[in-house]
Amino acid sequence: MNPRERIEYLVNILNKARDEYYINNNPTLSDNEYDSLIRELEELEAKYPDLVLPHSPTREVGATTNLSTLEKVEYVVPMLSLADVFNYDEVREFFGRVEKDGYHPTYVCELKIDGISSSAKYKNGKFVLGSTRGNGFVGENITENMKTVASLPKELSRPLDIEVRGEIYMSDEVFNELNNVRIQNGEEPFKNPRNATGGSLKQLDSNITRSRKLDTFDYTLVDPEKYGVATQEQALKFMASLGFRVNPNYKLCSSIEEVIDYLKLWEQKRKTLGYATDGVVIKVNEFSLCNEIGRTVKSPKWAVAYKFPAMEVETKLLDIIYTVGRTGNITPNAVLEPIMIAGSLVSRATLNNEDYCIDKDIRIGDIVKVRKAGEIIPEIVEVVMDRRSPDSIPFKMIDVCPVCGSVLVRKPGEASHFCVNEKCDGRKLANIIYFASKPCMNIETLGEKLCEDLYNRGFLRSVVDIYDLYLHRDALINIDGLGEKSVDTLLANIEASKQNGFEKVLAALGIRFVGSKVAKILAKNYASLKDLENTSLEKLLDIKDIGDAIAGSVISYFKDNMDIVNGLIERGINPVNELVSNDNALFANQTIVLTGRLDSFTREEATKIIEDLGGNVASSVSKKTSFVVCGLDAGSKKTKAEALGVKIISEEEFKDLIK
Ligand code: NAD
Repeated sequence: MNPRERIEYLVNILNKARDEYYINNNPTLSDNEYDSLIRELEELEAKYPDLVLPHSPTREVGATTNLSTLEKVEYVVPMLSLADVFNYDEVREFFGRVEKDGYHPTYVCELKIDGISSSAKYKNGKFVLGSTRGNGFVGENITENMKTVASLPKELSRPLDIEVRGEIYMSDEVFNELNNVRIQNGEEPFKNPRNATGGSLKQLDSNITRSRKLDTFDYTLVDPEKYGVATQEQALKFMASLGFRVNPNYKLCSSIEEVIDYLKLWEQKRKTLGYATDGVVIKVNEFSLCNEIGRTVKSPKWAVAYKFPAMEVETKLLDIIYTVGRTGNITPNAVLEPIMIAGSLVSRATLNNEDYCIDKDIRIGDIVKVRKAGEIIPEIVEVVMDRRSPDSIPFKMIDVCPVCGSVLVRKPGEASHFCVNEKCDGRKLANIIYFASKPCMNIETLGEKLCEDLYNRGFLRSVVDIYDLYLHRDALINIDGLGEKSVDTLLANIEASKQNGFEKVLAALGIRFVGSKVAKILAKNYASLKDLENTSLEKLLDIKDIGDAIAGSVISYFKDNMDIVNGLIERGINPVNELVSNDNALFANQTIVLTGRLDSFTREEATKIIEDLGGNVASSVSKKTSFVVCGLDAGSKKTKAEALGVKIISEEEFKDLIK
């Protein structure tokens, strides 16, 4: 889809969703789906201002049309929406915008109640008119129904003419009761308390509304200067003094740190409230400043709604694509309709392997629940089966490599399919990406995308070529999106990576079974790449913790990849380790076990001392154990050492030894 088509598509589905949400109280998208699509539309509109459509949902508040038959109410002061922010960086940007002209206001943080906005007007202190927000300029008269909301005062403590605005909501308890009854009666349950509130407020029979036991919190005082009120904090106190129900959890903050602490606190605590809140509204406190800062057509510029991060959200699985890893492993990946999860936009998730897709019965076109595992990598939790299309096609793993076309192999007992073609471009590229990555050579700015681009353009065919990129400086500068500055930064980062130690270089080569831990062991026993190249299987097997698989893999790597190893050495990637000869070290060739509580060291400190003195620390006692250091309250390891006749020394004796 080109940008024009995408904008039209987004405006169309978002406007349909708004009508379902605001008029029928029956959302067809989840709020996260809606927010993510709105974000995408906002970004496209910012990039292509000429393509903005007049009926774009980014320009309007509420529903596209007002279909209800309820009497209309016009607002002199419009009831606006709020701009959303989804993470702390965006909150900081809001502060930056407010404070860029030298203002240093205070801020009021309030819980964002997830209900229906309403306006309540009083004459002589008596409630006379209640209305919905509608499109912000014209709302609907719901006075009779608002009279049934017990926490909305019908008479104020002072005979004032006044308008306040707030949120009408349904508590979790009432919502659950209502839905239980609806299910028992064979009626469709409400999707969430907000929809139940919306549905209840638009009833023509206010007895039904009364039975729904709605509640309210008020937070906006219209025309505050009439009452000598100068700040939002004063407004909340003033409203409370008149008898309005004000949410007690608001906080006056004078710094961004305080605001962020408040956000963090309520991210955790919100589930204990008993009613739904979907975020925090951060407002400039001083009204004089708010007037100066102003508003857009849709929302004030002096406030934002921080939306609590959703940890698990629903979105559409658009496609499944396959990537080839450096060992040839093939991973299916979900291409998702972009969606906001825990504050960032996600459009990919791993599908791991064939079994995973089949167990979860994942199909292209499904609506899936996605979450961030460990907050970082998105994963699919499950398929939303009742939103599955009847003509969806069951998952079938590919049988040839998506890059080189070789037939894939799945060995018995292994979960992954492998491309076994050593010359596969997919594997070569994965190797380069791995080599440059942070845990390996840490070549900043040579990320996945750039590696792929340079590979496809023929600049990179193996990791050695990374160090020849400087020869192509002029050609690189001409690549779209690169330019002189970024190319020079890249070349400097590549040069800097030559300083990495032997351990890092070894891990970066991507030798099967040689990750950072094994690389560390090898680097303790070999001084350089050349040294390792000349080793033998026997010598490798002599090293503690190096078994057949690792030793075999190291030997065959050096046999098959001499061009790469020599290529790197010739280009100056040849770190040489100062091997500490451990032969004369105090604990050379000794295996030592620590047990019980040591008073003078932590376990890590004692382990480091032993390793620095040439020894190995083992976690269990065997006949091969040289001796056991026994601290206080030692248990089974001491008993076992006694039974095997292994020498036992106390912490004091150990301290004497290492003196
Ligand atoms: P909003 O809900 O993001 O924020 C503005 C509203 O917050 C105000 O109008 C007010 O009613 C409310 N609010 C609650 N507590 C408040 C407080 N303490 N101070 C000030 N205001 C407070 O904006 P919106 O325009 O009402 O709705 C947009 C949101 O509605 C979207 O972000 C989306 O999540 C949801 N939506 C969903 C769908 C869907 O299909 N699922 C469709 C349309 C809108």
